[in-house]
Amino acid sequence: MTLALDSFTASTALVIGAGASGRAAAELLLALGARVRVYDQNPRAQVPAGAEPLLGSPELPPAALAGVDRMVLSPGVPPARFRAALAEHAPQARVDGEMSLALAVAAARWGRRPTVLVTGTNGKSTVTALTGALLEAAGRRPFVGGNLGVPLSTALLAGLRDHAPAPDCLILECSSFQLETLGAHPVDVAMVLNLTADHLDRYPTMRDYADAKARVFAGLAPDGLALLDAGDPWTDYFRAQVHAGRLVLVDHPGGARIDGPGPGDSLVLPGGESYPRAALPLAGRHNSKNALFALLAARHLGAAPEACARGLAGFTGLPHRMTLVRELAGVRWYDDSKATNVASVLASLDGFDRPFVLIAGGRAKGDDLTPLRELLRRSGRALVAIGEATESFFALGEGVVPTVRATAMDAAVAAARELARPGDAVVLSPACASYDWFKNYAERGDTFARLVRALA
Ligand code: ADP
Repeated sequence: MTLALDSFTASTALVIGAGASGRAAAELLLALGARVRVYDQNPRAQVPAGAEPLLGSPELPPAALAGVDRMVLSPGVPPARFRAALAEHAPQARVDGEMSLALAVAAARWGRRPTVLVTGTNGKSTVTALTGALLEAAGRRPFVGGNLGVPLSTALLAGLRDHAPAPDCLILECSSFQLETLGAHPVDVAMVLNLTADHLDRYPTMRDYADAKARVFAGLAPDGLALLDAGDPWTDYFRAQVHAGRLVLVDHPGGARIDGPGPGDSLVLPGGESYPRAALPLAGRHNSKNALFALLAARHLGAAPEACARGLAGFTGLPHRMTLVRELAGVRWYDDSKATNVASVLASLDGFDRPFVLIAGGRAKGDDLTPLRELLRRSGRALVAIGEATESFFALGEGVVPTVRATAMDAAVAAARELARPGDAVVLSPACASYDWFKNYAERGDTFARLVRALA
């Protein structure tokens, strides 16, 4: 173990929140030899063996902070009161998130690795996975994860325990919550794909949400690359916070561009390097932009154009994003459970090629739903309102298209079947979080797909 890891070994850490990323951080710290306490208000939370569990109390027990050198905040916990408690009782301690902790350990253990940080309201997972696919096609061994898939801590742990080979670059999807705790780790490519209303349950204003996202540029290297969508209303705001490296605008005549109407005919990088749009098997102009972001990042990390072209062609997309479940009696059923806000529903369905019955609702996030009413007026067949937000979605559709309420997913599927006509689509594109009825969006999409496959 290198010298730099000693600072972890000899430390006492308090992990707040025992979800997947909190547990991963705790296990990593334990493997490095730290003393670890894990606090969660849920008395049944799972705590890794070897850590001291502090469970069940709605407030952080005062003893939890005694002698703490490092506090690790989980993305799901509101940070303010924990930061305040730390400032009072252990002012010298560091505050980390799982990702910033893992980046520090990765730098100490593996040395500096080319690093790409991807954030934005929508498209993060697609761009992260696609960037990884382009680099893999170039024979590289990227770590692809973070907010998507596996936490970086888990990969580090595998390296420590099983001597798994180190990745040669890091492609990290970052949520705004993860960025809140990110320090100025050296970064080669940083991007904000877009910014639209989301998580306004956590941030008082859009400006606060934007400021969390802007932290992605904090560690950009002098020869690094910053990427922004030229058409996004927040781009000028972000641009002012890029203090190092080169900025390239996506979907801009002077930057990386989409040639041709709709999704475009070709994707063109600055300098003229061009990729046929038809090579990428994902629909929609938003995915043309996503591909430009990924191409720019992979090229900056040294992937050759031929490899990138192969990587694009081989990328099949991620589940629960306009995934065709089946066609039955002339009706196509799509699982778009990952569309958890209004902007992503619009990206999926604005310009969609057939009338659709929309199944929408869930746990509301405070978005303005009005654009969905316009979408339904233009091309909706009907609306099935579900979840905690049933009444606001019902009010949205009423008077615009036939609108019904459903009290469970099987009822929603049955109602949609009644409402759809041959040649239509039924799309689960909820514009809401899933936590009212489901563990996460994947469980919501899987449940929907299972019910749809079972239709006789
Ligand atoms: P995230 O990881 O940020 O949630 P995903 O890649 O999982 O994003 O995509 C989620 C949904 O967001 C997609 O189903 C699509 O509807 C929408 N989307 C994807 N890329 C974009 C984009 N560049 N701009 C707007 N919406 C997008």
